[in-house]
Amino acid sequence: MDEIPFQLDDRARDIQSRARTFTEDVLFPLEEEAERRGGILPDDVIEDVKRAATEAGLTGGLHSPEYGGQGWSRMEWALVEEQWGRSTNAIHWHVPNAYNVWHHASEEQIQKWLVPALRGEIRDAYAVTERDAGSDPSRIATVAEPTADGFRISGEKWFVTTGDVAAVYIVMANVIDDGRKLPTLFVIDRDAPGVEIIDDPAFTHSYPDGHPTIVFRDVEVSADDAVGGIGGGDDLQRAWFLEERLGIAARCVGAMWRLLDETVAWAAGREQGGSRILDYQGVSFPLADSAADAAAGRLLTLTVAEMADRGVDLKVVHGKASMAKLFTSENAWRCADRCVQAFGGRGYLRSNVAERFLRELRVDRIWEGTSEIQRLVTVRGLERRGVERMLH
Ligand SMILES: Cc1cc2nc3c(=O)[nH]c(=O)nc-3n(C[C@H](O)[C@H](O)[C@H](O)COP(=O)(O)OP(=O)(O)OC[C@H]3O[C@@H](n4cnc5c(N)ncnc54)[C@H](O)[C@@H]3O)c2cc1C
Repeated sequence: MDEIPFQLDDRARDIQSRARTFTEDVLFPLEEEAERRGGILPDDVIEDVKRAATEAGLTGGLHSPEYGGQGWSRMEWALVEEQWGRSTNAIHWHVPNAYNVWHHASEEQIQKWLVPALRGEIRDAYAVTERDAGSDPSRIATVAEPTADGFRISGEKWFVTTGDVAAVYIVMANVIDDGRKLPTLFVIDRDAPGVEIIDDPAFTHSYPDGHPTIVFRDVEVSADDAVGGIGGGDDLQRAWFLEERLGIAARCVGAMWRLLDETVAWAAGREQGGSRILDYQGVSFPLADSAADAAAGRLLTLTVAEMADRGVDLKVVHGKASMAKLFTSENAWRCADRCVQAFGGRGYLRSNVAERFLRELRVDRIWEGTSEIQRLVTVRGLERRGVERMLH
């Protein structure tokens, strides 16, 4: 694989190659079965996926090896996310992993939740969004009232990915202190009294986990269940966004790679009207445009990963991560739409990779901040950090 302008060392190349083999040999063959089953694979198949990922050394990528992770750099991690992105139905969600917020957790929390998560025994879920607080987190109404030995949490969280199967929730709540609101993340055991899933709606994609609505009614937690300190929620949230937006960008780049692979092969083999359809510019030019998008998106995404590893000013990295997410998610969905068109009627079959991507990639323009929010972050960066720093 050509690596210019990123000179990958042997370790990065090895990680990338293991992730590629796993994606092609383990994930690709399961996609159609996952789609037919509405995203839910049989338990024994899920165990096989976990075992294969563990044997390939792909679990807990960014987490410390001390706790069962791999200690990857952001560049190494982005290269793996790119491979995950080539597959549909999010089967890679079964690869044992956990949110980055555990980097800020106490040793006790780590042993209780992170270590079993990286062994593939439990899952975690991240609950920030509410009915009236999506793009605007300042509207969060979930509160954590101080008690004698901790906090009492009340609120309702929407769209909690993996909330249906997670053993532990990381919940954003406002600690009320002298009338001030201090956004804080709390670790809440799913089995704690007062926790209830009140809705588990169907969504556009066929993915392994749901995105339920969860209510927290006077849930008692101890002071030790806060992560990153009281009032530290916004900083951890920004760290989460950086990782998630970069991950989405890398996966969208992978999706465009797979889409173009499959569509170019099809269009080069399909004959109609006496010619290969690839020889019709109405078919081939949109694919050429998407190839340019994919190559440019890949450069931007890997640049952001490399800058994050190098410790460049986080505010600049955040701005560029937003641009990467915006560019790749908008273009990946358009690429899927173009590929569906090139496949003709076959492009409308759920057995077709382009059809699945067309549904699955749509949410990448919405979650972890909509495209409009990424534009707002980008504009703020242009003004405060300067155009040159945002572009170069
Ligand atoms: C499948 C799925 C999984 C999700 N998983 C999680 C999860 O695990 N945890 C979690 O906490 N959340 C999760 N979310 C929530 C997701 O992050 C939000 O849906 C998203 O941030 C948008 O918020 P909203 O839905 O309230 O839309 P709104 O904020 O109400 O936005 C509606 C529209 O208005 C636009 N808009 C809003 N504000 C502005 C503005 N200032 N300027 C211009 N346009 C604006 C938006 O771009 C959008 O087009 C998930 C969502 C989905 C669909």
